[in-house]
Amino acid sequence: MRLTLLVVLTIGLNSRVSADVTSHQAPFRSPMVGDWYRFPKDIRKVAVIGAGPSGLQSAAALVKEGFDVRLIERSDAPGGTWYHNELTPVRESFPDDDLQTAAYRPDPRSKSTEYYREGDDGLTLSERWREHIRPSPIWDDLETNSSPAFTTLPEIEYPKDAAWALQAQLVQRHVRTYASTHRLNVNDRPINSSSPNIVLYSTRVELLRKEGSEWRLWLKRLTRLPESDEIKAEWWEEKFDAVVVATGGYHAAHVPDIPGLTQWSTVQRRDGHFPVHHSQHYRNPAPYKRKTVLIVGASVSASEISRRIGPHVDKLYISIRNTTRSTYMARRSIRRIHSEAKQIPEVVEFGRLSSNTSIRAGQIRLSDGTWLDGIDEIILATGYRRSLPFLGDYYSIGGKVSPDKKDSPILTDAHNLHSLSWTGHYIPDPTLAFTNVRPWTYGRYQSLAFAKVWKGTARLINKDRLWDEYFNDNHWQAPAAVVFGTIEEETLGRQYVAWLNQESVLHGGRLVDQWPIEERERFAYYSDEAWENGYTSSDNFTKIENTPRSEWPGYPRERETSYAFDSGSEW
Ligand SMILES: Cc1cc2nc3c(=O)[nH]c(=O)nc-3n(C[C@H](O)[C@H](O)[C@H](O)COP(=O)(O)OP(=O)(O)OC[C@H]3O[C@@H](n4cnc5c(N)ncnc54)[C@H](O)[C@@H]3O)c2cc1C
Repeated sequence: MRLTLLVVLTIGLNSRVSADVTSHQAPFRSPMVGDWYRFPKDIRKVAVIGAGPSGLQSAAALVKEGFDVRLIERSDAPGGTWYHNELTPVRESFPDDDLQTAAYRPDPRSKSTEYYREGDDGLTLSERWREHIRPSPIWDDLETNSSPAFTTLPEIEYPKDAAWALQAQLVQRHVRTYASTHRLNVNDRPINSSSPNIVLYSTRVELLRKEGSEWRLWLKRLTRLPESDEIKAEWWEEKFDAVVVATGGYHAAHVPDIPGLTQWSTVQRRDGHFPVHHSQHYRNPAPYKRKTVLIVGASVSASEISRRIGPHVDKLYISIRNTTRSTYMARRSIRRIHSEAKQIPEVVEFGRLSSNTSIRAGQIRLSDGTWLDGIDEIILATGYRRSLPFLGDYYSIGGKVSPDKKDSPILTDAHNLHSLSWTGHYIPDPTLAFTNVRPWTYGRYQSLAFAKVWKGTARLINKDRLWDEYFNDNHWQAPAAVVFGTIEEETLGRQYVAWLNQESVLHGGRLVDQWPIEERERFAYYSDEAWENGYTSSDNFTKIENTPRSEWPGYPRERETSYAFDSGSEW
């Protein structure tokens, strides 16, 4: 009886809606009229994926602007890269996994719950947990290659006596303080406690898909149940009007493609330890004490680990593929290698091994034709790859963004993001946005930009013009690739400040200041001392103060854009 009534009511409602549509609907108008992008509907519910320095700032800005926000983080606490402890990621795969699923194999399911015990599906509980949360690949006394002057979140201070090279534990505390200040830490609730908890930790996004005008997220949360020695897994879906992807860029360890390495990687000691492992497992020098160690690679992780283990090992080799170093950071890493480490050429082959519990008798061929043996431990400090398995719809490995815009993939390789405007919005659908600037400096502007654009208090130029800008001006395509402290980078900051302030004057909102001049001066001094003499000068930050915008680096000269000082068609 009740069912019949419901059906009748529903049919009645539907016919009423149809009648309204046919009799009163205005003629169809494209949502993109004029020069500005028009969102087809109001944006209220926003998901932020990732609670690192970028995602926390985005979530805080969106909450402040009144959005209904969900902050979703796979790990069990905020901090992103900087949230670290003794837990290490699950073992990397040899050789590298397919890029799209290298970070994890997505597991989207409709609403359900399961319980897992030790050994289920051949996994320990620890492996299941670590596969889900992916512990950060850094360690407690890692010295940052960035000083407090530009590793700072807004309104949070480092201790006055913090060293110029920060230790990772201090950065961790800094980011957590920011999370707590904005009520985004584990178990934090919004001030109005009747509203739902906006943070979801230990929750991984398995799939993100646009359905109609909404973004549908398939989520999976794990909970450890110590009382029953189980892990509870829950799956469910949520829908949003807009999504910020703030997942950083270092998702999966990269191992080099060297003949013989895969066989060496299977060697396992009786205590379970793998002597060949990626630097993501490094935590402290203890496992390397009085051993002969080979570090493969000479970037930041390699040089920092060499400094830590150098005083404790019996012998240390570091294999450097290419001694010409084109960037200041690469040169800095070489300079920081431990003085007792013997620098050797590139490893080109791992010889056949007869033991499956030790690599000590194995032979390693170097690019100069010599052989190395007697190694106990090999640390592959060979970097990371960007891998976002939940964005399967936006991958095209080896693909390209086509100028006719028919193909507009976001992910085509292990490092870059494509089809984005300089503001981080996905050009074909700006309800999806990516954080793609340094979080510490320009993250504050980008976060505010997301909130203002979706609230309607800052305008984006329309898609045609965004594409035009994308194809005609290489500079703005990858702001994150702009090297810190250069004139190009300063230009990006100015572009943000000019645009955001102009839009606030026109549409409301607070004005923002430029990244503080004192910090820029401190940075120039720091980089001279810690990176490379003459790397930058405070002059770099002021050089363009007396330069008209048309002469800023990267400014598209052929045609005016509408981001700054241009009143646009509506004004
Ligand atoms: C070894 C190493 C050393 C570094 N040293 C420095 C340094 O000295 N100075 C410096 O400034 N920077 C350094 N960095 C860079 C560092 O990543 C940035 O400083 C900063 O953490 C980037 O912030 P983010 O929020 O963009 O990304 P992240 O800090 O990486 O945060 C991204 C978050 O997204 C979460 N996430 C990812 N996928 C999902 C998913 N599917 N579902 C839910 N959540 C997800 C992750 O768990 C993570 O918490 C280093 C990085 C590494 C790897």
